[in-house]
Amino acid sequence: MDRQLLAAVLADAGEPSYRAAQVWEWVTRGAASYEEMTNLPGTLRDRLEQAVPLSTLAVEAEARSDDGTVKTLFHTGDGRPLEAVLMRYRDGRRSVCVSSQSGCPLTCTFCATGQMKFGRNLSADEILDQALHFRRLEAIDHVVFMGMGEPTMNIDAVLAACERLPDLGVTHRRTAISTVGWVPGIDRLAECEMPLSLALSIHAPNDALRSQLMPVNDRYPLAEVLAACERYRAARRRKVFVEYVMLDGVNDEPQHARELAALLDRRVYKVNLIPYNPTGAYDGSSPERIERFRAILAEHRLGATVRLTRGRDIDAACGQLAASAAG
Ligand code: SF4
Repeated sequence: MDRQLLAAVLADAGEPSYRAAQVWEWVTRGAASYEEMTNLPGTLRDRLEQAVPLSTLAVEAEARSDDGTVKTLFHTGDGRPLEAVLMRYRDGRRSVCVSSQSGCPLTCTFCATGQMKFGRNLSADEILDQALHFRRLEAIDHVVFMGMGEPTMNIDAVLAACERLPDLGVTHRRTAISTVGWVPGIDRLAECEMPLSLALSIHAPNDALRSQLMPVNDRYPLAEVLAACERYRAARRRKVFVEYVMLDGVNDEPQHARELAALLDRRVYKVNLIPYNPTGAYDGSSPERIERFRAILAEHRLGATVRLTRGRDIDAACGQLAASAAG
């Protein structure tokens, strides 16, 4: 919801200042129409209905997986595509993966979004509207910034959205920001008062391979990125989650696991191995190769978990739905 527009329309209508908070409370509790907002006068509800859409985003397509995952392709008021995903876990967790940009200016070679043209940064309201869309389906309790875009390149809007997430039932501790290693962004998160989680997409244990997979590594090589993560750890006293996408025959050999274990201080990092949703350029590692990799990390006493895959049957990897809709 465009909260500035809401404030302007309410002021124009001569409404008391608490009205904006009343509307916001309804929206964050999952109201799907002004009709439901029974503590607002009927004439005001009609006026808001005409003047302030409940969302800044329009739904273009929605895909539902057999495992309960829901993936939605939206477009902004100016026609920019973006995606968000609701992941439902058996233990009851409801996690929403949101986008911070339409497209992405970085060009990671394994990522469908990276192959799309960059549109623009999303506003805080456009980020919140992704979570609110799913909040209208059911209560949510986690948000991860792992959709389209590099969140730390749009850090002001991302942090502004994070400030409001507790209104939707998502605490700061249950909010994770994932970066490919944009050092100024990591430093902003280290300074931030909100106890947000940081996830680093590392995907390779050395600069040569990482630069092949993620050109951003030429700008911020591993040593600089890890130094920034350690500053974050020192300032926030929280571990950094390391994301490592498993690409068959590319970064999943035993020597890569040994190099990764030597690179990462286990007091600072916790590793998440991610089975890959193929997007064309690479194949995903087999479960056996992933397990071998995990076991080598464990031998070196570096804790690692294997991420549960969600929504494989609905192109749930970042950018896949938008890319297939565009194609
Ligand atoms: S992985 Fe993230 S940073 Fe890299 S191209 Fe995709 S959206 Fe951008």
